[in-house]
Amino acid sequence: MSSVMKSIRWCKVVEIYNEFEEKCATSNDKLKHIAEAMTEEMHAGLASEGGSKLKMLVSYVDNLPTGEEEGVYYALDLGGTNFRVLRVQLAGKSGIESQEFMEVSIPPQLMVGTSKALFDYIATQLAKFVAKESDKFHLPPGRKRELGFTFSFPVMQLSIASGTLMRWTKGFSIDDMIGQDVVAELTQAMKRKGIDMHVSALVNDTVGTLAGGRYNNNDVAIAVILGTGTNAAYVERAKDIPKWHGAPPKSGEMVINTEWGNFRSSHLPLTEYDNALDSESLNPGQQMYEKMISGMYMGEILRRVLCRMADEAALFGDTVPPKLKTPFVLRTPEMSAMHHDTSEDLRVVGKKLNDILEISNTSLETRKLIVNLCNIIATRGARLAAAGILGILRKTGRHVAKNGETAKTVIAMDGGLYEHYTEYRKCMENTIHELVGDELSQHVKLVHSNDGSGIGAALLAASHSQYSKDRN
Ligand code: ADP
Ligand code: MG
Repeated sequence: MSSVMKSIRWCKVVEIYNEFEEKCATSNDKLKHIAEAMTEEMHAGLASEGGSKLKMLVSYVDNLPTGEEEGVYYALDLGGTNFRVLRVQLAGKSGIESQEFMEVSIPPQLMVGTSKALFDYIATQLAKFVAKESDKFHLPPGRKRELGFTFSFPVMQLSIASGTLMRWTKGFSIDDMIGQDVVAELTQAMKRKGIDMHVSALVNDTVGTLAGGRYNNNDVAIAVILGTGTNAAYVERAKDIPKWHGAPPKSGEMVINTEWGNFRSSHLPLTEYDNALDSESLNPGQQMYEKMISGMYMGEILRRVLCRMADEAALFGDTVPPKLKTPFVLRTPEMSAMHHDTSEDLRVVGKKLNDILEISNTSLETRKLIVNLCNIIATRGARLAAAGILGILRKTGRHVAKNGETAKTVIAMDGGLYEHYTEYRKCMENTIHELVGDELSQHVKLVHSNDGSGIGAALLAASHSQYSKDRN
């Protein structure tokens, strides 16, 4: 970069900044409208198939873990960035006796290749993991190993252990998978790789997290994922699912996978940056809520704002730094690191700019500006996530005290964003408190269900085991 820098046009910077801040504003009133809209969409999605942008998918999970589950079970969790394989030895009332897992990142080329390439890779990793099973795990003689498959994309379930992929999200795009049975694909790949295993449950990560959360805490009724993408699941009364024509579940309840990432409402505070990000994405027009609040996108929003400031106000000198023009170079973990920089001279911000964008010699003022931008983006995301949660509380009647009685609601939370982005998490929790009020917020609790989705899938594989006596 040239050492003679055109001076920054601060007036223009401030203009762009103020406009962005204003457009991102989320007053409590606005959030309440958003929550109401979320509740309405939930109703519509439950009323009829395709009745809403919210798919409100019936999970076929009508019984959450009881804590009685026993035996060795595997789970495979295909998220957005990584996939995890795990095995647990369940010991009934004594809980999880042993647990082992392995995490592998998904090679980017497999996210946009063929289903065979992706599933062969997954099966190969699974085979390696199974081969290392130690004697802490006991498979009764004559039994096949069983697996719960957590697949975090919209799936139309056909039963607890089958379902077809509706569409991809989070940067995946494998055309030959759409409409295919996800379990059949996995089973075929396992066969090709010589794994003799039975897939007993196919679950969304939110459903897995709900199951894992319930195993530890009986008051868990909602699960929310904030990771690469975002989604939520909750326990619904079967009679409140008009589109469900299957046999009424004995429990009277059914877990619904909302697929709330695709939520959209005129109340959402969209900016030009969101619209540009969307139209250049692999899934334009879809997952708008997800694109505003989740880990895959927030860093990219920041990059776009900085790009405009660089272009129109010479924030980083005469020209726009080439690296800054690369979509998705600025990832949310980096944004989070800059946001959390507490050093006096904002050293971390300086280092990130240098390492990722090859921008050196920024002034303290510029670094402060960047921290403030991180704050605007994270605050908007976190507050919108809180509004979504209020939407679910409203749908389940948990947002008000009834006859002086308040239901206790525990929300199982998971995902890398929730786990690591402290400012985001704090803001979200504070906002929920603001939205539901002092009294009710004593009854609404968020718990981190660490890797709940994987364990939850193993638990659901156990409760739907092909060997279980009471299986209907
Ligand atoms: P997935 O959603 O792919 O199943 P995770 O739940 O582990 O996987 O979430 C990973 C995502 O979480 C990353 O893509 C990133 O967006 C976000 N993330 C991870 N670490 C951090 C961090 N330190 N700060 C902010 N976001 C993070
Ligand atoms: Mg995940």
